[in-house]
Amino acid sequence: MSKNKSSESVKVVVRCRPLSRKEESNGPVGGIVQMDLRLGQVILRNPRAPPSEPQKTFTFDAVYDANSKQRELYDESVRPLIDSVLGGFNGTIFAYGQTGTGKTYTMQGAWLDPERRGVIPNAFDHIFTHISRSQSDKQYLVRASYLEIYREEIRDLLDPNHGNARALELRENPETGVYVQDLTSCVCKSIKEIEEVMNVGNQARAVGATDMNEHSSRSHALFLITVECSQPGPDGRKHIRVGRLNLVDLAGSERQTKTGVQGERLKEAAKINLSLSALGNVISALADGRSGHVPYRDSKLTRLLQDSLGGNAKTVMVATLGPAPQHYDETLTTLRYANRAKNIQNQPRVNEDPKDALLREFQREIARLRAQLNHRKWRSKQKSEQVEDESWDGDQEKEIEDEEDEEVEKEGEDYVKLEEQRLESEKEAIRGDQDLMADEKQKLLGEKERMMVDLRKEQEATEQLTAKYKAMESKLLVGGKNIIDHTNEQQKMLEIKRQEIAEQTRKEREIQQQVLIQDEETLELRETFTSLQQEVEAKTKKLKKLYAKLQAIKVEIKDVNDEHVRSRQELEQTQNELTRELKFKYLIIENFIPPEEKNKIMNRLVFDPEEDQWKFQSLVPAESKSSQMKKRPASAVGYKRPISQYARVAIAMGGHSRYRAENIMFLELDMTPPNTASVDRSKDAEPNQSPSVDSSPTKEKGVRKSQSWCQTPKSMTSSPSNVSLAACHSATTAAAHGRLTDFSVRPTAGTQTHHHHLC
Ligand code: ADP
Ligand code: MG
Repeated sequence: MSKNKSSESVKVVVRCRPLSRKEESNGPVGGIVQMDLRLGQVILRNPRAPPSEPQKTFTFDAVYDANSKQRELYDESVRPLIDSVLGGFNGTIFAYGQTGTGKTYTMQGAWLDPERRGVIPNAFDHIFTHISRSQSDKQYLVRASYLEIYREEIRDLLDPNHGNARALELRENPETGVYVQDLTSCVCKSIKEIEEVMNVGNQARAVGATDMNEHSSRSHALFLITVECSQPGPDGRKHIRVGRLNLVDLAGSERQTKTGVQGERLKEAAKINLSLSALGNVISALADGRSGHVPYRDSKLTRLLQDSLGGNAKTVMVATLGPAPQHYDETLTTLRYANRAKNIQNQPRVNEDPKDALLREFQREIARLRAQLNHRKWRSKQKSEQVEDESWDGDQEKEIEDEEDEEVEKEGEDYVKLEEQRLESEKEAIRGDQDLMADEKQKLLGEKERMMVDLRKEQEATEQLTAKYKAMESKLLVGGKNIIDHTNEQQKMLEIKRQEIAEQTRKEREIQQQVLIQDEETLELRETFTSLQQEVEAKTKKLKKLYAKLQAIKVEIKDVNDEHVRSRQELEQTQNELTRELKFKYLIIENFIPPEEKNKIMNRLVFDPEEDQWKFQSLVPAESKSSQMKKRPASAVGYKRPISQYARVAIAMGGHSRYRAENIMFLELDMTPPNTASVDRSKDAEPNQSPSVDSSPTKEKGVRKSQSWCQTPKSMTSSPSNVSLAACHSATTAAAHGRLTDFSVRPTAGTQTHHHHLC
């Protein structure tokens, strides 16, 4: 890593989109956002305030009004960042703003129209053009990943079964920081390929969503590009620089209404903006500079962007605004947010020779394959020479190694052909040989056949190795070679001029802003008054100016206070709703879950801060799991598996062998005829009632009737096994019923009868 640890602030630019057709038709109110492009200022008018109230002014690194072109924003504010990434810095661009203000337009834009292509496609162009124009001693490896964060879950958009895949997890590496485990990463060799990656991801995003607009306004999309560049340093060794670029299209910043929703919906609403509010807290904590603790760990987004905010990265934030008066509050919030972000200090540095550089691995693998391939070819050549000339000399080894690849390859092929021909002719000779016995002939032919197969196998293996080698090598982009640069000199000049102009504009703006600040500070020093009258006038003017400023700040304080109160009220409301939900859950747990079960569960639960979830501790410690699981439970000793008391008795009694050791109850059919006498009696008493419909089972009659279906004393004595079976059955059932009553379920009349009849 480089020792150069300079600090620089997060660049914040603001962009306002034009009034939409719908907003225009709402009335001739016009926009509430005014911009001073030269000074980089945004002036916001409050549509509800009296005209006397001063307007709010914010200053940023650059501002882009409704007429701004995508290209302007890119050349002025993004290009320098991408250049840094190509030089080995980490870079982040994120678009922040209310839904419908142009975040996606700024980041992606309209792909097919070159004028309206956004930051991402322009960055693709930029990166690959840079590679094609760089010196040929540089090797590049470009990778891309695409993910989204929705409801605090990370989803890989390049995973083919994105819809069903489980959420990915964040891991932390002390060397390289936070990363997403198992995230798909595609090596891209051209603009076309990386555009394809982007399109695949965008489609995956749209497929998962029922309403794309709503989905995109509630999820964060991160497109990640890693550019690794290897170049021989002054020491002659190859040095690798790794630049990581995060292109982030954030969820809509508008406040999610949490009031009035409950249960799952409430939790969902709370989760949707968790990342965004955590981002706000992180920005506040960093901008403040005083608070030691920065709550990066509060959300997935802030953990992923940890380096981009206050860490090793160069960061550009694009805050997008809409000009419509009805969104005044949100627009003001966005501007305040952006204003705060300006104060964040980052410490970007070049990532030199990091341990995890994939390029290094690729280079090693390519070298290994190359060596393997050369060895193989050398071996086949050696063999072919043996065939041609039996008195081959081992000293030739050296010469062959130095030979050109292609020659070796060609000779290898020749050798295979020759060898095949030779084997074929030998086979012919064997077939034609009259002296040989038939089975001997067969044996010799088989041997030759085997040799042919071996030869082919060898050739196939070599081919596979060659293909692998070529595939690996083609993934590395060599400066000035892999991509043909179609632009002619004139166009190149034009591009360079345009970039120079952008640079110039940026510098001018910086100077203007500095002049403005100095003006205010040094005004009174420069002023000398010739007369008292003049002094009074000048001071009155100054007083007025300062008074206006004071008023503006007062309004600001009131605004911030109001906002604070509003958000506090909202939080309290959310808290109330959550408390209500908690009470409801408690009620269920306290009254309907047996306390011993509850305690068991509580003792097993542990909180995993990494995933922000409660988890069950495994019952058996992980290391002794295998040995523990081998022991059979006490209830199953001597049996195939745990077995009930009933089944044990059944086995002891020598029941049906089919059900031995199985928990199946075995009862014989009761063949005793129904007791018609009692039925007849009941018929006499109530002639209208059918005997089979028993309306009041507690009556003696019902009990007696069901008794007839029990094991009669006669059958009990006839089959001793049945006796104990029945006895046991009634005992266990009774026990089950007894347990049931423990569960504070009041026994109903029905269960009582049942109980009765069994006993
Ligand atoms: P977001 O992603 O912030 O929700 P979108 O990028 O989808 O907003 O923009 C909403 C609409 O406004 C789109 O139809 C888009 O084409 C249009 N739009 C946004 N910004 C601009 C701009 N600078 N110039 C012209 N049209 C814009
Ligand atoms: Mg969008």
